[in-house]
Amino acid sequence: MGVKKLTRGGNVYEEDTIAAIATPPGEGGIGIVRVSGPEALVIVKDIFRPRASNVDLGRVKNRLVYGHVCDTDGTCIDEVLVGVMRSPHSYTREDVVEINCHGGFVALQLTLEAVLSRGARLAEPGEFTKRAFLNGRLDLAQAEAVADLIGARSVEGHRLALQQLGGRLSGEVAGLQDKLLSLLAAIEAELDFPTDDVGEMDRETLLARVRDILEHLAVILRGFAAGRLYREGVSTVLAGKPNAGKSSLLNALLRQDRAIVTSVPGTTRDVIEETLVVRGIPLRLADTAGLRETGDQVEKLGIERTRRAIELAGLVVLVGDAAAGVTREDHALAALVAGRPAVLAVNKVDLAPGGAAFAELAALLPGCRVVEVSALTGAGLPELEEAMAGMVLAGKALLGETPLVAARRHGQALERARDLLLALVEKSGEGWPVDLLTIDLREAWQALGEITGSAAGEEVIDRIFRDFCLGK
Ligand code: GDP
Repeated sequence: MGVKKLTRGGNVYEEDTIAAIATPPGEGGIGIVRVSGPEALVIVKDIFRPRASNVDLGRVKNRLVYGHVCDTDGTCIDEVLVGVMRSPHSYTREDVVEINCHGGFVALQLTLEAVLSRGARLAEPGEFTKRAFLNGRLDLAQAEAVADLIGARSVEGHRLALQQLGGRLSGEVAGLQDKLLSLLAAIEAELDFPTDDVGEMDRETLLARVRDILEHLAVILRGFAAGRLYREGVSTVLAGKPNAGKSSLLNALLRQDRAIVTSVPGTTRDVIEETLVVRGIPLRLADTAGLRETGDQVEKLGIERTRRAIELAGLVVLVGDAAAGVTREDHALAALVAGRPAVLAVNKVDLAPGGAAFAELAALLPGCRVVEVSALTGAGLPELEEAMAGMVLAGKALLGETPLVAARRHGQALERARDLLLALVEKSGEGWPVDLLTIDLREAWQALGEITGSAAGEEVIDRIFRDFCLGK
């Protein structure tokens, strides 16, 4: 085993056989141990006892085989279904065997151990998908889409990831790269075989073609901000004095949104976040700023913690209490919120009208939207959601269709390509010779290549797959 294999872009991987539990930890109806590599079949054959004695796993193709997985000493570990996907018609393009166990921790762990004891190596996070990339089944943007698909928190985020997996972004990028390449080729031919009328005319043609590429880039980038919102969501904080109704409001919002509410561990921290999806944008409501605390929040948590939470938030909902009116605490909080994207929710309007005092409070928050709500009766909740979404989307173009690009890495690469081409246009205006301008063209091509991986270094690739979950 351990044959080195040279793949896409000159990357090398040890072509050994890897294995991991591919389903999430915890109890479930089934759990899958996935094995990939040249020895996958040999290894699983060694621990698998098919029910039908005439079945040879080595000859089975694209179907499930029923039987038992057994230990070295013959002890039965679990009753399983084994799926065989042969190279190259598999997720990794290698031979892949998936053992469908009963979804309990022990069955899966023992099955995995049996596989490892026969010579497979425990896969690193993302290693299956990395092999799919290295073997050319997916490009880099598509491989990243796999992680996005798993982590999507809204229907829009999911649609974006699926579209990227389908290669829509990759196709656009490759198209742009082609344009750059043919432009480079034309220039180089020109430089190699100069004709008499080389000069301004060629420069004009060059600039026209660069502008065309720039326009195309601009169209793709226009949806970037919205795409990122759909993909990453916005960290949202509900702030307000004690008893203003923050918890009630949060619950009312989540109840309204019940069909798509998720409760997932925060990706960056060990915080449980509730996700409220408004107009396709996941508003991540982290349990910070005393969201769930009772008692005097500003006092208890300290003004510092509240300030930090507000500073980090992409959206603040300042909750006021119409029944209690505007107090010193509201002013203190408004001072912290000022300058941040914010919505003032005047709560408990079933008890008392909001009144002029809240308009004064809102005046301390430039650009803030004011909505009167009642967490109790549900009045004003749709308007509050609208205001929250509107605040988050302010200034960000929505194309009315699913944006093409959502990941920061991709957006940055596109922006780099755009900046290089803009610089080229400027340099051309300053009279730079055309052969020097080709350097920018080449670099722009390179920047785009980082998206699909046609020009991405090993370091970039490793970083991307490291963030994957185990077994993917
Ligand atoms: P928090 O401390 O800001 O989280 O406030 P809570 O959500 O715990 O609410 C404080 C009290 O106000 C509770 O007794 C709620 O039932 C009540 N409350 C919250 N929202 C409303 C509302 O819209 N109308 C009325 N009448 N009572 C509310």
